[in-house]
Amino acid sequence: MEEQQPDIAGLRQGLDEVDSGIVRLIAERRGLIEAIAKVKEQGTSAIGDPDRERRVLDGVVAEATALGVSASLVRTIFRELISDSVAQQARHLNGDGGGRVRVAFQGAAHAYSDAAARKYLAGRGLEGDLTGYRTFRAAADALLAGEADLAVLPIENTTAGSINEVYALLRSHELFIVGEETWKVDHCLAAAQEVPLSALTRILSHPQGLEQCSQFLQSLPNTTPTTYFDTAGAMQAVAQSGDPGTAAIASPEAAAAYGLVVLRHDIADADDNYTRFVVLSGQPATVDVRIPCKTSLILVTGHEEGDLLRCLEVLSGSGHSMTKLESRPRPGRPWEYMFFIDFEGNAADPRTAIALDELRAAALFVKILGSYPAKALRAPARPGDVADEAPAAAAAPRTESGAQDPTEMLEAVAAAPRPTAGRSRQYKLVDRAARQADTVIRVGDVLVGGDGFVVMAGPCSVESGEQISGTAKFVRDHGAHVLRGGVFKPRTSPYAFQGLGWDGLDLLVTAGRESGLPVVTEVMAVDQVQRMAKAADILQVGARNMQNFDLLRELGKVDRPVLLKRGLSSTIEEWLAAAEYVVAQGNQQVILCERGIRTFESATRNTLDLSAVAVIRERSHLPVIVDPSHGTGQRRYVAPMAWAARAAGAHGLLIEVHPDPDQALSDADQSLSFDQFAALMRQLAAVPGSTAAG
Ligand code: PEP
Ligand code: MN
Repeated sequence: MEEQQPDIAGLRQGLDEVDSGIVRLIAERRGLIEAIAKVKEQGTSAIGDPDRERRVLDGVVAEATALGVSASLVRTIFRELISDSVAQQARHLNGDGGGRVRVAFQGAAHAYSDAAARKYLAGRGLEGDLTGYRTFRAAADALLAGEADLAVLPIENTTAGSINEVYALLRSHELFIVGEETWKVDHCLAAAQEVPLSALTRILSHPQGLEQCSQFLQSLPNTTPTTYFDTAGAMQAVAQSGDPGTAAIASPEAAAAYGLVVLRHDIADADDNYTRFVVLSGQPATVDVRIPCKTSLILVTGHEEGDLLRCLEVLSGSGHSMTKLESRPRPGRPWEYMFFIDFEGNAADPRTAIALDELRAAALFVKILGSYPAKALRAPARPGDVADEAPAAAAAPRTESGAQDPTEMLEAVAAAPRPTAGRSRQYKLVDRAARQADTVIRVGDVLVGGDGFVVMAGPCSVESGEQISGTAKFVRDHGAHVLRGGVFKPRTSPYAFQGLGWDGLDLLVTAGRESGLPVVTEVMAVDQVQRMAKAADILQVGARNMQNFDLLRELGKVDRPVLLKRGLSSTIEEWLAAAEYVVAQGNQQVILCERGIRTFESATRNTLDLSAVAVIRERSHLPVIVDPSHGTGQRRYVAPMAWAARAAGAHGLLIEVHPDPDQALSDADQSLSFDQFAALMRQLAAVPGSTAAG
C-alpha cells in the first residue's frame, strides 16, 4: 500500500496539469470569441448560427469518437461552451459592462435556483450577492421593494410542467423578464447516515422535487413524502435533525454542502429533467436586435369564436415562431382563460413591434413581459440524409436528366388520379386524401418522412453492453440516424433466445445516449407500452403483432412514434387499416416498415415487396421505410435491396448489423458485419437522383 501512494500522487499531479490545460484552452477559446464579437459589432449579422453550431458539434463528436471518448460527454461540454460563447457575444453587442448585482431567489443556499442564478450571472460576466427567500412571492417582493436588482425564479420544468405561482406573480405585478436560464436537474436521495432505503419513514423536498421523483417514491411504500419549502432547505433540515429515518431529495451538491450521505443517485422519473428559470427585473430590458431573442407576453382574447386563432395568426403570419403557449384561468371569471405566450422575436425589432401592435388590436388585453436573449431553444431538426463522401460513390454513374430522377417518378405516382373505386374504406385518417402533404415525424433531432432518408441500424437483439455500445458507435460514425436493438424478441421457437428484456432496454438506451442516437425497439405486449414509451424513442410493432389490435390501440395513446411492420401475410390495405388503429386513438406518428411477406418463393426468407413502397406513397401520407434484412434473410442480398428501396422512394431503411454476425444470438444469417454496413452506406450515397448529393 505504502509504495503505491507516490504513484497515485504522481498521476494526480498529471491530472491537475491536464485540468489546468483545459482551463487555459477555454480561456484561449474565449479570446477568439471576443475577437469574433468585435468583428460582428461592425456588421448586422445575427449571432448564434444554428448551422454553424451543429457543424461545430458534429466535428468535435467525430473527433471524440475517433479517440474513444463518449459522444454525449463531449456534446454536453460543447453545448455549454457554445452557449457561453453566444452569451459572451451578446454581452458585447449589448454593451453589458459586468458589475455587481443583488439577486433574490427562492430557497436555501445550494438550491437549484441558486445554481441557476449563478450560471446566469457567470454567462453575463456579472458578480452577484445572492439571497434566498422562503417563497417565490417573498423573492419577488424583495425585487419590487428595491432590495434586489434581479430575481431568478423557476417557470417550468420539463417533467412537472409550469409553475403556476410564478405565472400568477408575473400576471399581477410590475415584473419584467430580462433573461432566462436552464438548469439540468439531477435529483438524489440523501440522509444523515448510510441507511437501507427500507429504514426510511419520511422524505422531505420541495413539492416540485417530490413530483419529479414520483415513480421512485412509489417504490418506497413505507415512507411519507413530506413537502418542504425548498430542496436544499430539506437537506439542511435532515442534517440538523440527524434523524436516520428521514431523507431529502435535492442536488448532490446540496447533499455535499450539508454533509449528507447520498443513498441513491438519479432518482427523477425522466432522465432529461430540465428547469427553465426566468430572470426578473423591475424594468424591461432593451436587447440588441442581432441577439436571438424570445418575447413573452400575457394575452386575453375576445370571446368570439376564432379570437385566439386570429391572435396566433398575427404571430405566425409575421414569421414569429411560437415556443410556448400556456393557458391559465382568469381569476374571478369562471371558464375564461388568459394565455401566456413565448415566441422568437425582439420587441426592439421593427418587424416584431408591428406584430405586437397588431396583436394589441386583435386582443382584449396584452401585457408584454419582456424581450430577452433566448437560452432554452429546441435543437433544429434536419431531414435524415446519407452523406456522399466515398470516392467510389462519386465515381458511380449519376443521372443527368430529370426524366430518370426517381423523385419525379414518385411525384407522378402521388399526383396520379387515385383509384377510389374498388378500394376498401377501412381507413380514412392515414389515407392520402386526408392529408396531401407527407407526414414528417421528429425522432431526436432527425426528421422521418418527406424528403429525408433515415437509416436505422443495429443488431437484431441486444446481447451485451459491449455489443450494443460498440455497434452504436460504429453505425453512428458511418451515418446511421437511429439505433435499433430488440430486447423482447418474438421468436418462432420458445427455446430460442428471447431477448434480455428490461435489462436489455437499459443497455440500449445507454448506448443510444453515449452515441447520441435515438433508439427503436420492439414492444410485444400491451402492458409494456407505457414503460417502454418512457425510455425508447420509437416503439416497433413486429410483423407478428401487426394485427394485435389491443396493442395498436394502446400505442395510439402514447406520445411516441410507432414503427409498424407489415404482417407476414398482410395485404397493404390491412397494413394501412392497422396503422389507422394507432392514429384513430390520437397518435399520428406512425412509420410503416415493409419487411417482406410470405409467398411460395423459398429462395429468400421472405419476399421483399418493394412495390409496396410506391403503393403506400400513393395511398397514404405516412412515411414508409424498408427492412431488407428480414425481407431477404441473407446478408448478401441486403445491400442491393437497400439500394433499390432508396431508388423506389422509401423514406429510410431498417438494417441489422452485428459486430460478429456469425455469432449473433438471433438472425445471424441476415446480419451485416461492420465492414459490410460501411460499404452499404457508401453505396447508398450513389443512388441516382437521391437527395444524398452535396
Ligand atoms: C426485428 O426487427 O427484429 C423483427 C423481429 O422483425 P419482424 O417483426 O419484421 O420479423
Ligand atoms: Mn431480427
